[in-house]
Amino acid sequence: MRSEEPSTSSRGFGTLDVLVTDDDEHMRELIADTVLSYGHRCRVAVDGLHALRLLAERPADLVVSDWDMPNMDGSELCRRIRSAGDDAPYTYFILLTAFGDRAHLLAGMAAGADDYQRKPVNVHELEARLVSAARVVELHRRLETRTAKLRVDSTRNFAASRTDALTGVGNRMHLDEEIATLLGRAKRYGATCSLALCDIDLFKAYNDCFGHVKGDLALRSVAESMRANLRAADALFRYGGEEFVVLLFEQPLAEAERAMDRMRLQIARLSIRSADGSPVTMSIGVAELDVAEDRTAESWIARADLALYEAKARGRNRVISSAPPRM
Ligand SMILES: [Mg+2]
Repeated sequence: MRSEEPSTSSRGFGTLDVLVTDDDEHMRELIADTVLSYGHRCRVAVDGLHALRLLAERPADLVVSDWDMPNMDGSELCRRIRSAGDDAPYTYFILLTAFGDRAHLLAGMAAGADDYQRKPVNVHELEARLVSAARVVELHRRLETRTAKLRVDSTRNFAASRTDALTGVGNRMHLDEEIATLLGRAKRYGATCSLALCDIDLFKAYNDCFGHVKGDLALRSVAESMRANLRAADALFRYGGEEFVVLLFEQPLAEAERAMDRMRLQIARLSIRSADGSPVTMSIGVAELDVAEDRTAESWIARADLALYEAKARGRNRVISSAPPRM
């Protein structure tokens, strides 16, 4: 058997990886020689089982298979290849049938064959079928490449649609999904989680004084500092404008309050100065999830918001915890 392996076929189509399967040695040689003369790669198998073993080692673009073979016939081989699933690369299948064997031909096409070739094999006819096989295989390859690219794009889009473009933390949509998942789980199994609503103090004045470009830079620095001071298990989101939400999973109110106070201190230590030279600070309201009371995200966030309001009223730059709803 010749074993030349050029990178493109002599007629301009891509090189095919071909598997020829026939129990008749003379027929195998004749078909393999035709395949090789077109610049394709070629392996040979003596029956369906042998072919499956070779395909398990390396898939083929094209299988040219006899119908009538010992151990496993051509239609069963085709059926096995087709049952590999949608994620497997496509294998073009040409079935060889005896001249006038209409019943076998139809059964073979029903088993998933793409084309057929009458026996005895006319080499010129076979050449024409190789050309059309190469064209279809090329189309499948392009489709597979495009599908893989779309899959990557869609993963990227999914992440981007849940990220706040300015600060890189989760956005409102991501927060809503996270809370909905948490509430669903909490109803069934219970859950401990605290939510902190964090608002940069007097940020409107900061923007008015320094402009929105510097305002955006300040927002980024604050978000960065917050993220750096949270546990890996906590989740940070931009809620809107200069407001952020922290979800502190498995953290009861008192622990969450301490964690948020540490975070608040770090922000006051950043070198972001207000118009009057004083450091930019943050007010924070914290509420622990009450599984019985908080049927919706809104009621939980509303309690954190009330606590935040109180923090502002008491002079800002502080953490206030919401009283449990049933007290
Ligand atoms: Mg045979």
